[in-house]
Amino acid sequence: MKQRINYCLALIALIAIITATIAITFIFYGQFQNQVKKDLKQNAKLLMQTDIFQNAYTNKDDMSDLLSSFSSDTFRITWIDSDGTVLFDDEKNASGLSNHIDRPEIQNAFKTGEGEIARHSDTFNMDTYYYALLLDNGTVLRVSTEAITILGVFLSALPIIVVISILILLGCVFIGHLLTKQLLRPIREMAENLDNSHTVPTYKELEPFVNKIRIQHENILAAAKMRQDFTANVSHELKTPITAISGYCELMENGLITPESEVHIIHQIHRNTDNLLSLITDIIQLSELDHHELPRTFETVDLYETAKECVENQLAFAAKYHINLSCAGVSASIHADKGLIREMIDNLIQNAVKYNTENGSVRVSVVMTDNHPTLCVKDTGIGISPENQERIFERFYRVDKSRSRETGGTGLGLAIVKHIAQIHSAEISLESAIGKGTSIFVSF
Ligand code: ADP
Repeated sequence: MKQRINYCLALIALIAIITATIAITFIFYGQFQNQVKKDLKQNAKLLMQTDIFQNAYTNKDDMSDLLSSFSSDTFRITWIDSDGTVLFDDEKNASGLSNHIDRPEIQNAFKTGEGEIARHSDTFNMDTYYYALLLDNGTVLRVSTEAITILGVFLSALPIIVVISILILLGCVFIGHLLTKQLLRPIREMAENLDNSHTVPTYKELEPFVNKIRIQHENILAAAKMRQDFTANVSHELKTPITAISGYCELMENGLITPESEVHIIHQIHRNTDNLLSLITDIIQLSELDHHELPRTFETVDLYETAKECVENQLAFAAKYHINLSCAGVSASIHADKGLIREMIDNLIQNAVKYNTENGSVRVSVVMTDNHPTLCVKDTGIGISPENQERIFERFYRVDKSRSRETGGTGLGLAIVKHIAQIHSAEISLESAIGKGTSIFVSF
């Protein structure tokens, strides 16, 4: 990443340097050319105003003496007769020069009074600028000068451009280094200190990312803690019935069982193995519910019909506890996994029966509340205190441990119910009063 930022900065700098160099060269060269042309014109006009050429034309003999005093280092003077013959040149012998009548600037001067042109000079990287002016006597005065070409300007500036470019590139690498360091510092510090990530100084643009990581990390920690607690609870729950079974087996092994207690002990072993089985079944069920990617068969299910089927299946169980179990309500369609809904209703009915009082009743009903099909399992049982109402949906939480174990409870039934409700986006609510009973509502 750091290398990429450096490359990008260097590339941007390089493009900026090249563009700026080209633009500046062209702008200044244009101005320089204008200045050269302006100077030539001014010189030619000054020379014309001196009348020296007028005089020299009439006294041709001492023309050279008169004119040579005008020789200049900066520009060349050429004087051409109306037929193109070179009368005077301050750099070369006029008689040795060819007729100038075909030169464009001379032709223009004869036609329009003045003419100018730039020609590539013999010297490398130099152009010669000519300005020709028609005099009153019909001759043409031409002044010319050599000036550097645009390529020449560029080549002469090249060493300084290279030095500046290198300095800018080095500056870019340095700035890139500082920038990436500054950009990455909070991320690095956070990676090193995820547990105290809220103390890491950050900047505005990074805040959503930092917050997200923070939340995810907290969630991971919470999930890890939950798994750890769950494993500890499972181990503990498994240990209790196994210890009991092992104890009874030991008694049997050592022949310490009287014929009268034999039936009781076998019953205890049976009850404990049943508890173990229920526990393992519930754990498997929960772990399957935890796997969101498991395929589920969602279909249109009549909540009332399903509740009726569950009630019928649980009648024998309720009778065992002398509980009157009934079902009422209206047909209500929901989009659900029928197997899971059955499991949920069975769990709620079993709890309502188990935590009931002698000759109590359980009523399962399906009603529509605010257009939502709602299942209600109402019992006349022992009730749940307000401080426990929040917690009974936690895994392995039981209000009365011994009563739960007596009735073969695992402490996972309501956790499974809550999970199934979540899968169906249903809401669970509860009304309960100690000694009066409990109503649990599941609204779809
Ligand atoms: P368990 O296997 O112990 O029944 P659950 O998760 O089904 O576990 O229930 C958790 C606890 O909530 C139970 O141990 C019990 O104390 C309490 N509970 C659940 N349903 C009722 C109810 N209908 N009336 C009173 N208490 C209940």
